[in-house]
Amino acid sequence: MKKYLMLSLLLTIIIPTVMMEFLQISEKENEGLVQDDVHTTENHPILLLLDEQAVTIDLEEYVMGVVLAEMPMDFEMDALKAQAVAARTFACKRRLNPKHQNADVCNNPSCCQAYMSPEEYKKLGGKEDDLNKAKESAQKTAGQVAVYMDELIEATYFSCSGGQTESAAAVWGAEVPYLQSVPSPGEEHAVRFTESVTMSLDRFLGCINLSNEMIKDVSVISLTDGGGVDQIKIGNRVYSGTELRRLLNLRSTVFEIVIHNQTVEINTKGFGHRVGMSQYGADAMAVQGADYIAILQHYYKDVEIVHMNEYGTDLNH
Ligand SMILES: [Zn+2]
Repeated sequence: MKKYLMLSLLLTIIIPTVMMEFLQISEKENEGLVQDDVHTTENHPILLLLDEQAVTIDLEEYVMGVVLAEMPMDFEMDALKAQAVAARTFACKRRLNPKHQNADVCNNPSCCQAYMSPEEYKKLGGKEDDLNKAKESAQKTAGQVAVYMDELIEATYFSCSGGQTESAAAVWGAEVPYLQSVPSPGEEHAVRFTESVTMSLDRFLGCINLSNEMIKDVSVISLTDGGGVDQIKIGNRVYSGTELRRLLNLRSTVFEIVIHNQTVEINTKGFGHRVGMSQYGADAMAVQGADYIAILQHYYKDVEIVHMNEYGTDLNH
């Protein structure tokens, strides 16, 4: 869930042949688990690239599958509902600004959003109760999306922040009014809240393309509002936090580096790009009694939750 901001600015023209395929496939839909009793969104099918094969499914069935794949099913219902609205908003935004030539979204989480069909979930040993929870999260929020100034938002989300989220500007370099740094307490129980890794000094230097000389010093030059590393100096080179995260494959930009004689210890906090909604933070808010709208409005500043039908099919005006 990153790099979307730049990409979404690039409007792609859907070519007529793709539209033809889209219409043909959509005739085969309405076979899913949640068709009978979910508020209809039949005018909004999603063209999903599922393991590189394009399939058309009902939007709410898709949302249910994203909830199943993206969030632990023991989370509170309002966290699941917040996830459902974020997933729906994300998909609708992508449909307006396609990244893929022959689909609205794909099921690769590092590109779009993860998705798992109910059948696959059951095959992997998933419980019926959890399927019902995912179904309920989509059903109870059917058609609802998050908008800012009457435009669909970039509903980015991630696992956990480490206590404070990051602004879009700090991570992607572009100011987005609703993606600001906000506190995200209560994430400490997250599976990947902290991590400590140790690697050899040679491997560390190889990863960051630095020679062995002048490696003694590591100093953080500046931090972001969200507590991540903005700029850090290692030896004679200055790196951005996002650059080091990529080079060292770190869980987040909240990290400290300790150089020992022949090894390097790296401690990180949080997991993901940390921009937008924290999934573990959403669950913590729900445990405290917040409903899904309050959760969404905490992580996406000044947004409104509206029904997409109120805005017609084009939410980009
Ligand atoms: Zn994708």
